[in-house]
Amino acid sequence: MPDFDLIVIGAGVAGLTAATLAGHRGLKVAVIAPSGAGGQIINAERVDNFPGFPESIPGHELGTLLFAQAEAAGAQFMLDTVEALAAAGDERMVRTATQSFAARAVIIAAGSSPRALGIPGEDKFLGKGVSHCASCDGPLFRGKAVCVIGGGDTALDEALVLAGQAARVTVFHRGKTLRAQRRLRELVAAAGNVAVESETVVEEIIGAASVTAVRLRSQNAASPCQQEIDGVFVAVGLDPATAFLRGVLVLDPSGHIETDIMMRTSLAGVFAAGDIRKHSVAQLAAVAGDGATAAIAAFRYLADL
Ligand code: NAP
Repeated sequence: MPDFDLIVIGAGVAGLTAATLAGHRGLKVAVIAPSGAGGQIINAERVDNFPGFPESIPGHELGTLLFAQAEAAGAQFMLDTVEALAAAGDERMVRTATQSFAARAVIIAAGSSPRALGIPGEDKFLGKGVSHCASCDGPLFRGKAVCVIGGGDTALDEALVLAGQAARVTVFHRGKTLRAQRRLRELVAAAGNVAVESETVVEEIIGAASVTAVRLRSQNAASPCQQEIDGVFVAVGLDPATAFLRGVLVLDPSGHIETDIMMRTSLAGVFAAGDIRKHSVAQLAAVAGDGATAAIAAFRYLADL
């Protein structure tokens, strides 16, 4: 007898939406995630692209609301990290470091983690001036000079948070044009203390006890130069949290889970939702949609079993 009808791995927007819809359909649902509810959005100062919040909503508030909704739908929450997934007949086995559970279906919504740049100084100064989270660490740089590396939505979101705290924010972007959406580009352009330096690569993070400078190579300069800086926020993309799924599910070369339009993976009874899956547009409204689709697909799968 399985422990649950459905185990949802991950408690971000996709996972919580899936748990809510599955609970509403009467499934016995467990959500397993390593930290509190909300996933990446709890670090977002404000969310203004989730339907229904025209004045925007702080990420932690949205996370709390989604968690409460899933809990009210009957989902049971466990703080743990999933290390393995396997099939045993009609059951799907989910193992953490200390426990093992059987379910009749699984939705993987474990999200992504920030990608490292891999340059000298990055690991050495992590937590000593190098960060991946402006809303967590921004207050440490009040009145100081910081930089953000990257040119996507995350980089500009980080820059906007830092603009409210640091004296000066520089966005170093390797490309010619920013990849981030127009609204964020406009907000950054309107912020008085944010500069964007395109075609500039940060080659090294320099410091002693903490970060003091970055070494830069600009397309427009003959030789590298050094710029004094107190904090470096790395925002060069996200890697899907799928290491535990290698050899179990079909993944694309970047590690994202292959799904069909009903969020079905290559293993029957296992579904994927959110930015962990291939072709996700990684926007909150879309990942909530993935969670809803996966929950309904899982419900239909269980009804057919
Ligand atoms: P992303 O869109 O993949 O952008 C990564 C950025 O980092 C790109 O500008 C890229 O440069 C740069 N980059 C990558 N590797 C680099 C390297 N080794 N050195 C220097 N620069 C490097 O990642 P993201 O911004 O984290 O966004 C991920 C997804 O989440 C996107 O789909 C995004 O739309 C979504 N998201 C949405 C929101 C929102 O709606 N508010 C907020 C955050 C994220 P190139 O442009 O030259 O490739």
